[in-house]
Amino acid sequence: QLLQYKCLQTTFHDEFSVSKMIGKGSFAKVYLAAKKSSGVQYAIKAFNKEYMLEQYKGKESLENEIRVMRRLNQENLVHLHEAYETQNSIYFVMDLLQGGELLTRAKVYPYSTEALQQIMYNFIKALVHIHSKKCIHRDLKPENLLLKTKESSTDVVIADFGLATFLNEQILIKRCGTPGFVAPEILTYKEEDPFYDEKCDIFSAGVIFYILLTGRQPFQGSDYKAILKSNKNCEINFNLKEILSSSQKLQDLLGIMLNQNPKDRPSAEACLQHPYFQEIFNKKDLID
Ligand code: ADP
Ligand code: MG
Repeated sequence: QLLQYKCLQTTFHDEFSVSKMIGKGSFAKVYLAAKKSSGVQYAIKAFNKEYMLEQYKGKESLENEIRVMRRLNQENLVHLHEAYETQNSIYFVMDLLQGGELLTRAKVYPYSTEALQQIMYNFIKALVHIHSKKCIHRDLKPENLLLKTKESSTDVVIADFGLATFLNEQILIKRCGTPGFVAPEILTYKEEDPFYDEKCDIFSAGVIFYILLTGRQPFQGSDYKAILKSNKNCEINFNLKEILSSSQKLQDLLGIMLNQNPKDRPSAEACLQHPYFQEIFNKKDLID
């Protein structure tokens, strides 16, 4: 047995019938499957044990992914139902997010001003929960944001806690994430530096905000090295027509989320209180 965490040892394939692959990331493949006893559909994230052990991420990262997901419980975060371990694989049984990746949808149907506001509100609300549980995600980027249903375009859900960790306990590789989306302080992190904190997620949320608004990535370059450099130096072009024609409130929030210095970025809670979300807040059910 690879994991110290309680994984069901029963044969996974007796309980689930797998129909097709619906996603692929750098570490795992995700399949659509139905539970035989109930007919309910799930997304199964499958890891090859041998591959995980060879990776620098190793088995600690899998344990961490489970540990973080079990601690979190919020409607805009993907829910882990069960983990299975078989001879060669680890399987996570998760909610099926029917709407697919947020950006795929955005490319087909560009978002209205109101929809963008609602997406960012739901997204940041989920971040408030993650941070309140003393966790950080560290890998927020478009492909890890999914939509709950095919009908709704704003019910965004954060998936992939593969690089998530606990605050003050960045036990995995401390420099991680994906250049183009990651906070500059992670890219410049040195062994002797103090731990970075949850503000790195605010920066990545700002990058996603920028992409949803403009349809472009803030850090561009002809190759990986150029993107990395621009990301490290935090060179962002705010002089785009989509940004300049937006409300002052939006421009302000976008700007402060993308501050190079983490100390100058608002907390997730402070983002939700920002005037940009005031209209949503005014319409909101107060007992929510
Ligand atoms: P990795 O850690 O390898 O990046 P992810 O957890 O990000 O793996 O999953 C890979 C891809 O599978 C995602 O980018 C997404 O497209 C799809 N996916 C992940 N989780 C779900 C889910 N619960 N429902 C539907 N699709 C999913
Ligand atoms: Mg992923």
